[in-house]
Amino acid sequence: ALVVGRRVRSRRKWKRVVGVLKELEESCETTVGRLKQVVDAMAVEMHAGLASEGGSKLKMLLTFVDSLPSGSEKGIFYALDLGGTNFRVLRVELGGQRSDLDPDVEQQPIPEQLMTGRSEDLFDFIASSLYQFVEKNDSVQSPITKLLGFTFSFPVKQTSVSSGVLIKWTKGFAIRDMVEKEVAGALQQALTRKGLNMRVSVLVNDTVGTLALGHYHDADTVAAVIIGTGTNACYWERTDAIIKCQGLLTTSGGMVVNMEWGNFWSSHLPRTSYDVKLDAESPNPNDQGFEKMISGMYLGDIVRRVILRMSEESDVFGPVSSRLYVPFTLRTPLMAAMHEDDSPELTQVARILKDFLDIPDIPLKARKLVVKICDVVTRRAARLAAAGIVGILKKIGRDGSGGITGGRSRSDIKMRRTAVAVEGSLYTQYTMFRDYLHEALNEILGEDIARHVVIIVTEDGSGTGAALLAASHSSENVNNIQ
Ligand code: BGC
Ligand code: MG
Repeated sequence: ALVVGRRVRSRRKWKRVVGVLKELEESCETTVGRLKQVVDAMAVEMHAGLASEGGSKLKMLLTFVDSLPSGSEKGIFYALDLGGTNFRVLRVELGGQRSDLDPDVEQQPIPEQLMTGRSEDLFDFIASSLYQFVEKNDSVQSPITKLLGFTFSFPVKQTSVSSGVLIKWTKGFAIRDMVEKEVAGALQQALTRKGLNMRVSVLVNDTVGTLALGHYHDADTVAAVIIGTGTNACYWERTDAIIKCQGLLTTSGGMVVNMEWGNFWSSHLPRTSYDVKLDAESPNPNDQGFEKMISGMYLGDIVRRVILRMSEESDVFGPVSSRLYVPFTLRTPLMAAMHEDDSPELTQVARILKDFLDIPDIPLKARKLVVKICDVVTRRAARLAAAGIVGILKKIGRDGSGGITGGRSRSDIKMRRTAVAVEGSLYTQYTMFRDYLHEALNEILGEDIARHVVIIVTEDGSGTGAALLAASHSSENVNNIQ
């Protein structure tokens, strides 16, 4: 009787866990109908953010990038890419003709204490790394000023293509003395302290660098999206649509706009109790809501929260592991590895749960449950990112909705080929994420339209693109700009 009793109890507990899973699935639901509402909301917010300063949670920031590299740029240019877990230094030689760029790249993790310390320490550290990098490739003593494109992947209110102030930090950075300070200036001062003859000639968001490189390789590129530690997008906009900046004139008639879509919010977004808690416990509550549902900094932590709840409500994961209470212990690459474990016994899942969450020896049934949680969380993220992309296409009339000519069939839709450059580890390293994103694009746009939308993957675009922009905005090359 004792044995039977235990079995009944454990069956009842399993039922509770299934209930938690079901609730998660329901609150993460992203039907096509719902995604289309997100698309519309994105387009509406874009209009609002362009109409007036503070008109929307979407900041729609001016970049002062009013031309994209043409391919005719010439010379040696450097770039520095700061904004995620790693920072990169790059050097690229441009020969005056479009070619496969083959930049020299070096990458380094940013020491954790520098992400939350003083700005001078961070910039001195960066300047030293850059100095060593230059020393390896060129003469540091040369009297010729080297030009540097600075990719700084945080919201910046630009005052020109080479200057701007930090609006706020995201992605766990918290250097208080930097907020509202001139970003390129801070780097320039560190370079000068170091005695490096180098000038920060453009200051760009990583999305803008990615767009520049995307456009360099494929002239149909109109937007760029980053889905990595954080998420964001930028796109090419007509200046007369940037209403908050009346009288903005550029030779090209357009300008790249940095949307800062990580901060997008809409009541149509499928939000769970886990999202609410994650947000409340984050260093930036009520901020970056879209980013917290989509990007690599957060996905693993949503999964951790679900496992914790299930563990508290049942014994399927054994006694509650204290590691489950530690924020960000389950990093997104680990989550991806569990999600993509295709071994019959789910040995990867077992190993990761044991090594990182201190949850040993759980039955296969419970391992499958973990995979399912990863799936729900990633699928929602990828589909929301897809809706965001279609939102941009809609805003610029490239979603096919305006292109249907009087009463003809859908196959007559005149849709221009449209390319979107995408970068970031979620898209490039996480196959399931990528597949879900593509699937959702097809569902939202319909296959006829989706056929004309190409996603291009750039490598190191955020940095290389900044070097290209440093080139196209340098005086030697400026005549080449169309
Ligand atoms: C930042 C953006 C950046 C994105 C991707 C976000 O947290 O606010 O400026 O483009 O991350 O790196
Ligand atoms: Mg990056």
